[in-house]
Amino acid sequence: MCGIVGYIGNENVYDILIKGLHRLEYRGYDSAGVALVAPDGKLSVYKARGKVSNLESFCADKNLDARAGIAHTRWATHGEPSDKNAHPHFSEDGEIAVVHNGTIENYKVLKDALIAQGCKFHSETDTEVLAQLIEYIRVENQCSLLSAVRKALRQVVGAYAIAVVEKNNPDTIIAARQSSPLVIGIGENEMFLASDATPFVEYTKDVVYLKDGEIAVIQRGKPLKVTNLDNVETGVDVTTLQMSISELEKGGYPHFMLKEIFEQPRTLRDCIRGRVSDDGKRININGINDHKDKFLNCKRIVIVACGTSWHAGLLGRYLIQEMCHIPVVVEYASEFRYSYPVLDENDIVIAISQSGETADTLAAIKIAKSMGAFVFGISNVVGSSIPRETYAGCYIHVGPEIGVASTKAFTGQVMVLTLLALGIAQLRGTKSEDEIRALGEEVLRIPSYVEEVLKLDKEIRRLSLIYTYAHNFLYLGRGYSYPVALEGALKLKEISYIHAEGYPAAEMKHGPIALIDQEMPTVIIAPQDHLYEKIVSNVQQVKARGGNILAIVTEGDSVIRNIADHVLEVPVMPECLTPIITSVPLQLLSYYIAVNKGKDVDMPRNLAKSVTVE
Ligand code: GLU
Repeated sequence: MCGIVGYIGNENVYDILIKGLHRLEYRGYDSAGVALVAPDGKLSVYKARGKVSNLESFCADKNLDARAGIAHTRWATHGEPSDKNAHPHFSEDGEIAVVHNGTIENYKVLKDALIAQGCKFHSETDTEVLAQLIEYIRVENQCSLLSAVRKALRQVVGAYAIAVVEKNNPDTIIAARQSSPLVIGIGENEMFLASDATPFVEYTKDVVYLKDGEIAVIQRGKPLKVTNLDNVETGVDVTTLQMSISELEKGGYPHFMLKEIFEQPRTLRDCIRGRVSDDGKRININGINDHKDKFLNCKRIVIVACGTSWHAGLLGRYLIQEMCHIPVVVEYASEFRYSYPVLDENDIVIAISQSGETADTLAAIKIAKSMGAFVFGISNVVGSSIPRETYAGCYIHVGPEIGVASTKAFTGQVMVLTLLALGIAQLRGTKSEDEIRALGEEVLRIPSYVEEVLKLDKEIRRLSLIYTYAHNFLYLGRGYSYPVALEGALKLKEISYIHAEGYPAAEMKHGPIALIDQEMPTVIIAPQDHLYEKIVSNVQQVKARGGNILAIVTEGDSVIRNIADHVLEVPVMPECLTPIITSVPLQLLSYYIAVNKGKDVDMPRNLAKSVTVE
């Protein structure tokens, strides 16, 4: 969470930093700030509570002439969102400024020690400790900023990506990372740094992903230098960025979320490309091909993920158990860590995270590796921590997702899990060649099915007006449609702030049925599948209690159509492939309800997209 940007070059740094902060705002928007080092060495810090636009208003009458600086958009972990808690944070003497993404776990101990030495603190953040500690060490040891940063970081426990600038030095930024992302862009006579590459994609494609424990010295007119905390050079590994500026723009849509929903036919095609042969017969996943013995011999699969990715993981369980007959458990990464997990070399752990930086998921990966399990990653962001920390994996290839509520990343994750299940089934022979081909052919048609479903847009917008009144929603589904119900409810909660509960339809009668009345609509996901008759009964149970029902059904459905208040029809397809198709109308429904309520769809309150803190 939180976004960091930095720049050294010949351009006006303020403009570059502000543009970069806007691109990173999906990571947090509690407050924003900049530290500018002017050519004469003057260090100016400006910060404001709220979104980046507030900072821009605040800076309107300031002197912003500088060619080096750092900036931050915050997602608060320590201390309320306020001007004083906004980054950058100063050292007591105003000599250095620091921006930080992450949490300093031992900040209290360090803070108390610094207070005992006479330091005065001005914020409630853990980050200010870093600024004060670095400066304290520099003064005590009469050492350089770099050396003080290195010494300070040796004392720190926790997660951080930091950037530090100092007064009277408009030519240097020091950056470091441990468990929070940081990428450096190398341009012509200029260098950038940021939490991801989006702030500088139009300026350079040459990037260096900083690794845990590394410190980068970014200096005007000098090559990038990267060392570890022991001051040993670790080398500069330059890779080429695969991202275009058009992917970061709204392309005529009012919100990124709507654009991303409508991109899904293309993103799913990109996700499938090269992984299913044109005739549907062969599934080709490199991560499986390169580690056949692991997938042939594994006795259990454990999926770890958070939020929407966890819902994709639940679908992964149904898919893998049905197609491969391997037992699968799905864990919240944040709980897995503390559940005294028992794993061995016969286990495969699949870690899923859109950003590839989710702190809890990365921690789960570490534990799994330490216990000898084979760890496979599913992520969207090339070069992020998950692909680096896992033994094999699969990108979802859906392009940058900016809307905080995940849409195309969810369907991309489900698609990859579907392909993974088919690939393992092919390898282990748990599905016949004919079965694989039949499903492979249908997988190739999914992007066109999504195109069909998106034609419901107008109808969903109309229905959204009918349902916007509600303060509570119930989402029900069974089998493959149960995780879809959970994801549909989460989408609505995230962006419209309406309370919504996803539930297995049959469990409803063990509690939630008591809530049903005319005030609480129920969304039922009920495609034609082997549980259809059972869910028809659940629909009737809701109706018998006077509840309003919006049902997602298969084309031609006549039974539920006669009971539900409203239905949305999706194309007929094999049961295991329905989740991608049935989740799209639910994305649109939550989007339009949130728009009807005047909510900030792309930046819902309290949320951030990339959860890099525990
Ligand atoms: N822990 C820091 C704070 O609360 C940084 C949080 C972030 O990553 O935005 O200010």
